[in-house]
Amino acid sequence: MSYTYDEQNIFAKILRGEIPSKPVFDDRFAYAFPDITPQRPTHILVIPKGPYRCYDHFMTAASDAEIVGFFKAVAEVAKQQGLSEAHDGKGYRLITNSGAHSHQEVPHFHVHLLGGAPVGPLVS
Ligand code: ADP
Repeated sequence: MSYTYDEQNIFAKILRGEIPSKPVFDDRFAYAFPDITPQRPTHILVIPKGPYRCYDHFMTAASDAEIVGFFKAVAEVAKQQGLSEAHDGKGYRLITNSGAHSHQEVPHFHVHLLGGAPVGPLVS
């Protein structure tokens, strides 16, 4: 099984600057910006710079440096947003939808970072 990547997906356009966004974090491996329909007081999307359609694709095709760099960036964004338990932010939930059964709508791997208020049970 191989993965295809749609260069016209909305997050690819955001990365290329074709659709405006207001980044809260931007480095070599990751780009983070507020979700357009926030589900919690803080709802940030963190995406890798490379062309990966889902978590599976990212973990099988990205280099170790990209994977480590990306997940370190997720933690850094949580810290910068004041959410981490170590900073009395009460914690946060990370979600990634991978493929059709997960309700993934945008085919560029992304992690939802949700915080600022309690979330409910995991699966509805
Ligand atoms: P789901 O909609 O089931 O959460 P995804 O995991 O693919 O599916 O999430 C895509 C997310 O991208 C949604 O939360 C949506 O609100 C967000 N989104 C779509 N377009 C934009 C945009 N231009 N800027 C910011 N967020 C966006």
